[in-house]
Amino acid sequence: MSVEPITAADIAAARQRIRGEVLRTPTMPSPSLSERAGQPIHLKMEQRQITGSFKLRGATNAILSLSDDERGRGVVGVSTGNHGRGLAHAASRAGVRAIICMSALVPENKVAAIRDLGAEVRIVGKSQDDAQEEVERLVGEEGMTMIPPFDHPAVIAGQGTLGLEMLEDVPDLAEVLVPLSGGGLIAGIALAIKAQRPQVRVTGISMERGAAMAVSLEAGRPTLTPERPTLADSLGGGIGLDNRHTFAMVRDLVDAVVTLDEGEIAEGIRHGYWREQEVVEGGGAVGMAALIAGKVRPGGPTVVLVSGRNIDMKLHHRLISSEDVDLEEAAA
Ligand SMILES: *Cc1c(COP(=O)(O)O)cnc(C)c1O
Repeated sequence: MSVEPITAADIAAARQRIRGEVLRTPTMPSPSLSERAGQPIHLKMEQRQITGSFKLRGATNAILSLSDDERGRGVVGVSTGNHGRGLAHAASRAGVRAIICMSALVPENKVAAIRDLGAEVRIVGKSQDDAQEEVERLVGEEGMTMIPPFDHPAVIAGQGTLGLEMLEDVPDLAEVLVPLSGGGLIAGIALAIKAQRPQVRVTGISMERGAAMAVSLEAGRPTLTPERPTLADSLGGGIGLDNRHTFAMVRDLVDAVVTLDEGEIAEGIRHGYWREQEVVEGGGAVGMAALIAGKVRPGGPTVVLVSGRNIDMKLHHRLISSEDVDLEEAAA
């Protein structure tokens, strides 16, 4: 099946569309990381975005791109994490009905967080698959529109607006480090940046535990990989065996993918707190962590995308107090 490519013009249009609905977050120099890397290192502070992550950009662009008819029938999603939050907030701002489906196993605090942002929560069955079935029913029988977390043109274009801001803030940009899961974030950013400055190096950072995109790139096609507990929980999940956009975009536009172990990710979270004075979640801290671990050695001015801050604050407290937290042992 042929797929319409997403273009730099789509990202420019997304920027106009979402202006006023999302924050233009700051890009700040990091003296301690610059010293360590021997190059100017800047942090793109997207953990300060409304709802605590960049997912608001893609969700807002997707909702504001709907036809009047689609808006009238509402949107659905299954995410209980950052995408769910972004979607709930964006829909509520636009006056569009949103239903987030989740299983009875989702903890109450996550349910409440989504509800507080203005979405309806529908609890169905005992697994993610049951929740997915309800989404398909709402799409099929009630004509609602499903907004997926990454493999969707308007979502990718919305995330790409970060690339435009990075280019404006650091005109001599040589390299960007971007957290990588399903790839909507890095695909949009790489497209935005390479359209203007093809020589800028774009590196994706994932966790070793369940790096679905890295495994898929290695295999040459979307591939399943077992999901395991990780500090970078917002980077969990597969890329979809029926992936339409992000796999090919990441393969064609991203220069390198690096993976980190749990100890390295914990160091990134600690660095964020003690040196940058910011609360950062595991998935948001992997760029800083890759520099600290020496797994990326920048050749020039670099922007590290800090992508989110939605971490359990008790876990955060344990981590910054230098407790060794192994989620897999905890789960076993
Ligand atoms: C979703 C998410 C990512 C990864 O984005 P993809 O588009 O799935 O690659 C990175 N960081 C945070 C905080 C996220 O919520």
